[in-house]
Amino acid sequence: MELLDNLKDIILNANSFQKSKNYYFENHICSQTGNNIKVNLDFKLSNEDNDKIMKFGVCNHCKKVFYYYDFESKSF
Ligand SMILES: [Zn+2]
Repeated sequence: MELLDNLKDIILNANSFQKSKNYYFENHICSQTGNNIKVNLDFKLSNEDNDKIMKFGVCNHCKKVFYYYDFESKSF
């Protein structure tokens, strides 16, 4: 349930969405604090059908969600 709760919390409370330039994290000047905040893209959503993945994370201060699209590299 924890992951589902995480997902619901992030998506339902999202203030806005912004494409990240990085697979792992995004630095942004937070509108809430005025500080440069590093947001780790801790979560990964994957589509088994087309191998697309979306990494995402949220700034806990301003609730802006950063996401990054990629393709899963399959190891055979
Ligand atoms: Zn922020």
